[in-house]
Amino acid sequence: MVNILDGRKIAGQIRAELKEKVAKLDKKPSLAVILVGDNPASAIYVREKMKAAVEIGAKFRLLKRKANTSQRALERIIQDLNRNASITGILVQKPLPPHIDDEEIDCLVDPAKDVDGLNPISPFIPSTALGVFELLSRYAIKVEGKKVVVVGRSKLVGLPTALEFVKRNATVTICHSKTANLAAETKQADILVVAAGKPRLIKRNMVKPGAVVIDVGINRDRETHKLVGDVDFENVKKVAGYVTPVPGGVGPMTVAALMSNLVQASSQK
Ligand code: NDP
Repeated sequence: MVNILDGRKIAGQIRAELKEKVAKLDKKPSLAVILVGDNPASAIYVREKMKAAVEIGAKFRLLKRKANTSQRALERIIQDLNRNASITGILVQKPLPPHIDDEEIDCLVDPAKDVDGLNPISPFIPSTALGVFELLSRYAIKVEGKKVVVVGRSKLVGLPTALEFVKRNATVTICHSKTANLAAETKQADILVVAAGKPRLIKRNMVKPGAVVIDVGINRDRETHKLVGDVDFENVKKVAGYVTPVPGGVGPMTVAALMSNLVQASSQK
């Protein structure tokens, strides 16, 4: 029988714990989110972050800018937020419009306020990676010594997640669109993390029996318009030991992890 890794439930527990912590803080955490353009998925993610921030007792400020906002204008907003002592966390919602240099923007966020962990010198773990580890840890799934395969090498999800597994003493393989034989790699995994953005890419025959399968993907099914992951959940659950559902798996954990980083950033003030 497969175990479902219930991200929605665990995220709720984490938010409740954070709410208690925030109640004891003299200075309330305050998250500023910059949203450039009108990507509908981004608007939904930002709303989730706002709901979570309000729930734990943090302040939330949304800075919404048009898609044609210049690099310079965006940089000025971040510099202002860096200087603003009432803001304890800054997040720039991705994706940014193509004319914006993401890397320059990430590097500009004050590391002490970089709750999304995307500045290379940020002390914070990027929220999706942190969410994955928090989920594993709450289900008492050990990482050390395990063979981990991460499908996807993006700077936002795949790479930081793989790097954190290495730091936690797993043996890690990173796969991407040019991997010669994806199934041969994924079948080796004790823990398989998939962040490819390809609906139902991972089939039952690509999973080792008993493996832990973490589906980071969030895709819209073309026919049903429902959210689906990168894993063929209905069939993979017949062979996996543990699997995350989509929705209700890594998504809520990412938001809860962001809130953990925010509370940590605010406790250091
Ligand atoms: P990107 O498109 O930036 O990266 C996708 C990665 O997957 C790339 O490295 C790409 O390889 C690889 N890839 C694509 N197709 C294949 C394939 N057929 N076989 C093997 N590798 C493949 O996406 P993100 O990393 O930003 O996001 C990935 C998914 O996670 C998306 O569905 C996104 O919506 C979701 N997401 C979910 C979050 C959550 O909280 N649950 C948070 C953020 C994202 P290459 O480098 O060669 O192009």
